[in-house]
Amino acid sequence: MPSPLIATIEAGGTKMVAALASGPDDIRARERIPTTIPEETIPALISFLKSAIANHGQPDALVIGTFGPADITPTSPVYGHITATPKPTWENTNLLGPIQEALGVPSLFDTDVNAALFGEARWGAAAGLKNTGYFTIGTGIGGAVMIDGKLIHGMGHTEMGHMRIARHPDDSFKGHCTFHQDCLEGLAAGPAIEARWGKPAQELPADHPAWEIEADALAQACLNLLTIAPPERIILGGGVMHQSQLFPMVRKRLKELLNGYLAHPPLQGDLTNFIVPPSLGDNAGLLGCVALGHHLLTS
Ligand code: ADP
Ligand code: ZN
Repeated sequence: MPSPLIATIEAGGTKMVAALASGPDDIRARERIPTTIPEETIPALISFLKSAIANHGQPDALVIGTFGPADITPTSPVYGHITATPKPTWENTNLLGPIQEALGVPSLFDTDVNAALFGEARWGAAAGLKNTGYFTIGTGIGGAVMIDGKLIHGMGHTEMGHMRIARHPDDSFKGHCTFHQDCLEGLAAGPAIEARWGKPAQELPADHPAWEIEADALAQACLNLLTIAPPERIILGGGVMHQSQLFPMVRKRLKELLNGYLAHPPLQGDLTNFIVPPSLGDNAGLLGCVALGHHLLTS
């Protein structure tokens, strides 16, 4: 039996990617739509999906993986809304409602990073593992946790980007989070690196002291996750992780922070298989939504 066809939207603060797909080998249509104002972007998403459906077939479900904060609790009166985002004009926007109404199929609304982890667990860097974690380090820092094959939701979605970490001893930067200043995101997201060093993260050389501070922050975040919901593997993605020298640096720092404390097999050796990059690349969000759609239809 062919896999169900899923209409997907990866909703980002800069762009949205809408697609019609049933798996990695069957992406039938895909479009990048700029995130401008809701009155423009939402109709553009509906219009693309409707024409894709006319050309490629009726989807069995709609899945949106969104930037946050967002209300992903199905019983909430504002389920499907973007909530307290600092992104102008998107605060308290019903993103799911109008699209779900236009398509008329079962739907699911979750965070972009939850979708990315679900996709990596099905087809990518966490395939075959039931307990995994994901941090995306970009404009903000998002996190996702899967335990026993299920994404952790709780009261809304995780907010691991706002965990507290200890400041690196060489760092006097006050932090960049508008709510908490020196939380993980405030110390280690792309804009924090830029504010600390006075130029965009991608312009700092690989041997710049910025990366030692960054690796320390990310290793602390991984350690904190290990103490709460121990994953067998942690994926680190997002624009900042294009600095591939960070991977061995985070592994080394995590090893130091663990100081021999946890003896689980994935934590032996140099952690090459414990701290890993994502493997689905540009299709991570899209395929994550497809995987969530399949899960929705079978649960
Ligand atoms: P978004 O957060 O919008 O999904 P990204 O994940 O690309 O997008 O994150 C953007 C942030 O990542 C910016 O702060 C940018 O400076 C940083 N960034 C992008 N590319 C690189 C790179 N090659 N090296 C270091 N930082 C980068
Ligand atoms: Zn914060």
